[in-house]
Amino acid sequence: MPASEGGCWVWTGATTDRGYGAIRNRGKVEYVHRLMAEGYGMKIDGATVDHLCRNRVCVRLSHLVTCSREENTRRGNSAAWRAAVTELMDEMNGERN
Ligand SMILES: [Zn+2]
Repeated sequence: MPASEGGCWVWTGATTDRGYGAIRNRGKVEYVHRLMAEGYGMKIDGATVDHLCRNRVCVRLSHLVTCSREENTRRGNSAAWRAAVTELMDEMNGERN
């Protein structure tokens, strides 16, 4: 069953005080929407990832947009980070079925 077009993919895990979906990655809090954007290949280093839908717990790629400063200061993608993203995407796929 395809997700309805335009519908948000709502993160159901932990959130920050400000209402953003977040996970803990090696003791460091990471924003889920940023991880998703990076996982799909968006270049977000040094940039802000905003929600087009204004839904802070939404992690749907088509609802995310970068406010890029075009600084391609690459910090390298750690294995732990990639694992976290993969886990997230698996979870999303499960929810869509
Ligand atoms: Zn959304």
